[in-house]
Amino acid sequence: MIFVNIDVVIVGGGPTGSLSALQAAKLGAKVAICEEHSEVGSPSHCTGHVSLTGIRRLPIALTKRIVENEIKSAVFYSPSGYKFSVRFPSPVTCVLNRKLLDQHLSKIALDAGVKLLNQTHVDSLLMKRSGVQGVLVRRKKTTERLFSEIVIDAEGAASNLLKRADLPSLDRCKTVNGIQVDVDVVDNIEDDVVEVFLGRRFAPGFFAWIVPRQDGSAKVGLATTSRNPRECFFDFSRHNPIASQRLRRSHISQLVYHPIPLGGPISKTFHDGLLVVGDAASQVKPTTGGGLIMGLTCAMIAGKVAGYSIRCNNTSANFLSEYEFQWKRKIGFDMMVMKQLRKLLNNLSEKKLDKLVALCSRLKVGEDLEKAIDVDFQGTSLIRLAKNPRGFATTLYLLMASFF
Ligand SMILES: Cc1cc2nc3c(=O)[nH]c(=O)nc-3n(C[C@H](O)[C@H](O)[C@H](O)COP(=O)(O)OP(=O)(O)OC[C@H]3O[C@@H](n4cnc5c(N)ncnc54)[C@H](O)[C@@H]3O)c2cc1C
Repeated sequence: MIFVNIDVVIVGGGPTGSLSALQAAKLGAKVAICEEHSEVGSPSHCTGHVSLTGIRRLPIALTKRIVENEIKSAVFYSPSGYKFSVRFPSPVTCVLNRKLLDQHLSKIALDAGVKLLNQTHVDSLLMKRSGVQGVLVRRKKTTERLFSEIVIDAEGAASNLLKRADLPSLDRCKTVNGIQVDVDVVDNIEDDVVEVFLGRRFAPGFFAWIVPRQDGSAKVGLATTSRNPRECFFDFSRHNPIASQRLRRSHISQLVYHPIPLGGPISKTFHDGLLVVGDAASQVKPTTGGGLIMGLTCAMIAGKVAGYSIRCNNTSANFLSEYEFQWKRKIGFDMMVMKQLRKLLNNLSEKKLDKLVALCSRLKVGEDLEKAIDVDFQGTSLIRLAKNPRGFATTLYLLMASFF
């Protein structure tokens, strides 16, 4: 037996796993994290581009080493190369080193008394009549049962456990395949600008991006509904007129693949003895694929509810439903709007995307965005934006173009 007397087992030592663990441990629960890899944060598959307001809303003090860059501007390219830029007077987003972020969160959790079991793969949930009672783990070629009062599933987009336990799982049809590379040098891009490339030619079903670091290197990636993201990526880097210029001298040092769930949160995120958080619960912005702020926001709630449920000696679905109530109150509306926006964007033809980008540029919507935008809470931002004539015209165009 690896450990006895564990109150909460967390599946996955990613950011949402570590933050849930920390919150539960702070309330006195005995917590263990099972992480299948030998090192937390590796392999990293994420750009780490997050809003500064979003990160400041969380109780996470980031060290300078974790923040690789701060961003003031975004440029969107339409399929035919129309350009729309938004520039803010001061940084609105930052680029995090994902490996260091994951390790930072893990260390804080361990300092609070959480146990970390590396190289421990969770094979399945242990079920009893009244719900979940632990996990079955594979560790050093042996299989063991790890009993606990609560399991928090933070296994990320792989999300295998729920399916096996007959619980509602991720909508695979709404998952895109991400690919990201690290390049040593990128040309003719200011270091505080991210570039986003829309259109089916290079990234069918999503978009491609270039996110620079201050040292001249960059993270470049795309996500797509295509089964062959690698082919899409090399086509993009060689044949997209702008990207091929930016990347003409670059060498790739790391190439990673990972799915991104875009279908909006799963229909139920709790069960007797179980909570689901982060990518495993599809708490990811359907518009941009950003899951860090949303997932971490929900992880805070999951850890607290788990901690209180141990204190109150009540791990029933009824008690744990408080988690879903709270996260829905925080991000439910915005998630719903972003899901609809994703649907609208997916339905836009290339021509209409061209027109939309050109319209935004002509109407100078960027000036309104500067005041209205909250990168995370896009539903709320859209309402604020639509109150302004230019924003209203763009919103109206977006709605009409996607219907006709
Ligand atoms: C290419 C790409 C770029 C992205 N860029 C951004 C971005 O710029 N900004 C942003 O906000 N989001 C971005 N995302 C999304 C972001 O990476 C995720 O939302 C975030 O990592 C979710 O965190 P998590 O803790 O839920 O899952 P993960 O980070 O995936 O962590 C899950 C952990 O669980 C472990 N695990 C899985 N299964 C098991 C098992 N059975 N047993 C034990 N351990 C297990 C894994 O090893 C992993 O450590 C991007 C995603 C991709 C693919």
